[in-house]
Amino acid sequence: MRALTYVGEGEVRVADVPKPSIKDSNDVLVRITLGAVCGSDLHILHGHTPMNEGAVLGHEFVGVVEEVGAGVKRFKPGDRVVASFFTACGHCALCRKGWFNQCVDKATFGHGEYFGGLGGGQAEYVVVPLADHSMEAIPEGMSDEKAIFVGDILSTGYFGAERAEIKPGDVVAIVGAGPVGLMATMCAQLFGPARTFVIDMVDSRLEVAQELGGIPINTRERHPVEAIEEATGGVGADSSIEAVGLLAAVDTAIHCVRGGGTISMVGVPSAVLGDFPFMRMWLKSLTFRAGWCNVQAYMRPLLDLIAAGKLQPEKIISHRMKLDQAEEAYRIFDARQATKIVLTP
Ligand code: NAD
Ligand code: ZN
Repeated sequence: MRALTYVGEGEVRVADVPKPSIKDSNDVLVRITLGAVCGSDLHILHGHTPMNEGAVLGHEFVGVVEEVGAGVKRFKPGDRVVASFFTACGHCALCRKGWFNQCVDKATFGHGEYFGGLGGGQAEYVVVPLADHSMEAIPEGMSDEKAIFVGDILSTGYFGAERAEIKPGDVVAIVGAGPVGLMATMCAQLFGPARTFVIDMVDSRLEVAQELGGIPINTRERHPVEAIEEATGGVGADSSIEAVGLLAAVDTAIHCVRGGGTISMVGVPSAVLGDFPFMRMWLKSLTFRAGWCNVQAYMRPLLDLIAAGKLQPEKIISHRMKLDQAEEAYRIFDARQATKIVLTP
């Protein structure tokens, strides 16, 4: 089959690789109908995430079930499905508490041996292990483009917004207007904020943020913390959502909130350690939350919100390309010339 593979830092290649097959009774073989390129793929491209040569990339995908293992209960051949970007067993101690992202059997699609050796979604086929707890059926009549993002960026945007504790009438600041920040902007609106500021330096992305209800702040023109202070009479935002992963963005997210406010970080940290403003956190009684999205908990309700027309995640798609063009897709996404790219095998 055709698939996008990792070659080395800065290089990916579309190649012919063996078609995967079911090995465990809880596996499902999915024929992929749409994949997407995510900001986390850029961490791999830049060599910040450990990855082995030849591994298939991609962790956002939807498709049709082709074959199921004997132990699979929720799916049958022909079902249209969307997968979480990681697997969960559904019955370990932390899955039972609802923290699927802490599962003892967690493995991540398209991230090579270091993250569990799964296949990837930028390919024609993928095997989904622990399928009953790692996928959801797509509601009848819902397009692939509407469903695909519940497996990663839409859930992450919602997770970020929920953990920011937004109350009706609040001022929210979203740091980063990449796909995740845009989904956070969209999901924040479900909680009723009066104003949602969105901070980035790429105009095309800030324009999308504005269409989704955000008030853009371009850091090339304004210091974001000053701009938010000025807009709030010197008070600051009630909460912020960090959707970048760089320490500079975390710093903005911490400094733009008022005393008693909440910071919710979803960007994958680019560094293991860094300065943390303990005194400011203490003096201002701030709450700091961070985390790998607990996707499995959000897929079903988000599919229902999409079906009801209350979320339109497909609005952020800027480029529709073929899997064979995936190398070019990575190049333009990395250069921020594309907001969100989907790939058809
Ligand atoms: P992206 O790289 O496309 O977007 C990042 C955006 O941040 C860009 O538009 C960039 O211009 C902007 N930016 C960079 N520095 C900034 C700064 N100092 N202030 C404001 N904006 C700044 O990536 P994405 O797909 O939107 O993903 C964002 C982050 O979320 C990545 O780190 C990704 O790995 C992570 N992520 C986390 C989870 C999770 O489970 N927590 C899931 C998916 C993605
Ligand atoms: Zn991702």
